Amino acid sequence: MQCEDLKTQNKLPIVYSKKYSVHFAGLEKLHPFDAAKGKHVQQLLCTELSLESGDFYNPVEITKEQLLKVHTPKYLKSLKWSFNVACIAEVPPLIFMPNFTVQSGYLRPMRFQAAGSILAGKLALEYGWAINLGGGFHHCCSYKGGGFCPYADITLLIVRLFELEASRVQRAMIIDLDAHQGNGHERDFQNVDTVYILDMYNAYIYPKDHEAKSSIRCGVELKHFTEDGYYLRQLNRCLMQSLAEFKPDVVIYNAGTDVLRGDPLGNLAITEEGVIERDRLVFSTFRALGIPVVMLLSGGYMKSSKRVIADSIVNLQRQGWLSLN
Ligand SMILES: [Zn+2]
Repeated sequence: MQCEDLKTQNKLPIVYSKKYSVHFAGLEKLHPFDAAKGKHVQQLLCTELSLESGDFYNPVEITKEQLLKVHTPKYLKSLKWSFNVACIAEVPPLIFMPNFTVQSGYLRPMRFQAAGSILAGKLALEYGWAINLGGGFHHCCSYKGGGFCPYADITLLIVRLFELEASRVQRAMIIDLDAHQGNGHERDFQNVDTVYILDMYNAYIYPKDHEAKSSIRCGVELKHFTEDGYYLRQLNRCLMQSLAEFKPDVVIYNAGTDVLRGDPLGNLAITEEGVIERDRLVFSTFRALGIPVVMLLSGGYMKSSKRVIADSIVNLQRQGWLSLN
């Protein structure tokens, strides 16, 4: 789909496909991940914002050629082995599944979500913002997957914008507020001074990637059970510092909800109100300056995440931050 066509369609730049949902013969129930988070958020948004399923932008599956813009041929080939995919997806029984089942049930949905991130990048340039109800695979880099992330959608999105929108996008900022360190994009953009990375994460959980940390230009290492007050003060300070140091043409906001209190993997203690205020801070800061924001859902492993995400998007809409350029 060409960008010129996008503006003629009068709908919100929210990207979703029913092909996002992960499924492999019920095995997804073994994983703490809400395998259909995007679908659940989409359903809530339909109710809250009076949308219909046709009101969302649908990506087409990302091609091998597009993946090769970032990924090494060796890495893509490694995904043909169920053992390797089982390690990335953190679902050990996948080892015993034929690769075609792994492809159709897990990797294909992930390829649709990665394509959704790229489409959201294009839409954000047109409308000032866009949200992909998936993606945010921030543990995957060009040559290695991990932590449920098989494709480096954040890198793919930035590389595509730099290549295809070179007149409008030369400098990108990643704001990674998932509970985990975003070591995938950090490895991909090591020593790349046109990409600025702000990362706030629990330093005492996966992936503890010290080498990747050198790419973080503004970072906060959080302790277990960090609460709203400290978290939001640090975020506010980091946003101001980042803007003082770097003027981005686009912001990629990795809005993981595994920061929520009670999340067994994130191990932080942010309330639902805290997440809603966090999202508002990011959107209001950059939207007020006319800098496009691309939001990706990333982690958020509890079933309750969907409600918070939908409430936050509705709040952004009510506050006027989701108006169209
Ligand atoms: Zn996470």
